[in-house]
Amino acid sequence: MDETPMRARAVVDLAAVRANVRALRAAAPRAELMAVVKADGYGHGMVPCARAARQAGATWLGTATPEEALALRAAGDTGRVLCWLWTPGGPWRQAIEADVDVSVSAPWALREAVAAARASGRTARVQLKADTGLGRGGSQPADWPVLVAAARAAEAEGAIRVTGLWSHFACADEPGHPSIAAQLAAFRDMTAHARAHGLRPEVCHMANSPATLTLPDAHFDLVRTGVALYGVSPSPLLGLPGDFGLRPAMTLTASLAMVKRVPGGHGVSYGHHYVTPGETTLALVPVGYGDGVPRHASGTGPVMVAGKWRTVAGRVAMDQFVVDLGGDRAAEGDEAVLFGPGDRGEPTAEDWARAAGTIAYEIVTRVGTRVPRVYVGEQPGTGI
Ligand SMILES: *Cc1c(COP(=O)(O)O)cnc(C)c1O
Repeated sequence: MDETPMRARAVVDLAAVRANVRALRAAAPRAELMAVVKADGYGHGMVPCARAARQAGATWLGTATPEEALALRAAGDTGRVLCWLWTPGGPWRQAIEADVDVSVSAPWALREAVAAARASGRTARVQLKADTGLGRGGSQPADWPVLVAAARAAEAEGAIRVTGLWSHFACADEPGHPSIAAQLAAFRDMTAHARAHGLRPEVCHMANSPATLTLPDAHFDLVRTGVALYGVSPSPLLGLPGDFGLRPAMTLTASLAMVKRVPGGHGVSYGHHYVTPGETTLALVPVGYGDGVPRHASGTGPVMVAGKWRTVAGRVAMDQFVVDLGGDRAAEGDEAVLFGPGDRGEPTAEDWARAAGTIAYEIVTRVGTRVPRVYVGEQPGTGI
C-alpha cells in the first residue's frame, strides 16, 4: 500500500539514472565517471541516485560540501568520493578519517588538511584545484607554484597524497566560446608544472556535463557529470536530453484540490493578474513556491491537466496556483503534471526553465522537501 500523501509527489526513475550513467560513460569511454550528487542529487535524492550511479559504473561520487560527502559514508558508500567546497574550520578530520578526497585551492586549506591528517595519523587524499579561468574557486596560475610546492612538501612528510589535479569550466555550455580553449591550455600548463615539480596525481579532470557531451578534448582521466545524470540538458543551446540519449528522471505531479465554475471577469490569485475572459472552469493545483515552483513562472508556467497544456493563471502562491480549463472538464483528485520526461505530452523541466527565465538545473534542484520523492526502477543490490 503506497502511503505517500496524495497532494504532490516527485517520482524519480532510478532506471533512467542508471541508463543516463551508461550513456555518459559511452560518451567519455576512456575516462572514469564521477556522479555529482550535491544538493540532494539536484533535488532527486542523494543516496538513491548515488546508489543507482554506482550500480551503473560510476567509480567516483562528487559533492560540494564535506557534510554531503560524510552523509554518503553514513549511508554506507565505501567508494571514492570528492568534496570541494570548504571553509575554514570545516570537518577536515572527519572527512580524512572517512577516506574522502578533499579539494584544496589555497595554502590555508592545505594547512588545515595537513593539520587534520597529522592529528588523525592518516595520509589525507588531497586534490588541488586550479582556477583556469572560471574566476570562482581554485588557485590562480600566479599562486599555483606556491601551492604545488607546499603540497609536495606535505607529501614528502607523509601527511597527504595528491590524488588529483582539477579545474572547472565557465562556458562549456556555449560551444565554441573562446574561454574553452583558453581554459584547456591553462589546465595543461598547470598540470605540467605540477608534474615537473614531483606531483603524480591519479586523476586530472575538468569536464562537467556539457563538456562530457561535447568536448572530448576535456575528458582527461575522469568526467564529473551532474545535471545529465538526471536526464536534464545542460543548455537549450546544446539540445534536448533525447539528443544525447538521456532520459529525464523526475516527474513532478500534483492532485487537483478543487475544480469550480466561475463567472467571466473574475480575478484569479493574488493581485488579480489574471481575469477570466468569460465563464469558465478553474482548477486548483496544490503546489507553490514553498514546494519549489518558481514564482517567476506566474502567468507563464506550463502544466498538463485533463490531457492538455495549460498555463499558470495569475500568481504562483506559496502553496498553490490556479489553471483555467476553459470549457474542459476535470475533477478533484485528477493529476496535474508540471513536468516529466515529455513522452506523455507533458511539459519538461526545460519548458519550466524557459517560462521562469532560469535554467533546468534550478527547476529540478529547487523542488522542496515538502514534496515526497517516490522511487521507481530501483535495482536491488549491494553497496550503499
Ligand atoms: C556542480 C559541479 C559539477 C557538475 O556540473 P554539471 O554541469 O551539472 O554536470 C562538476 N564540477 C563541479 C566543480 C561542480 O560544482
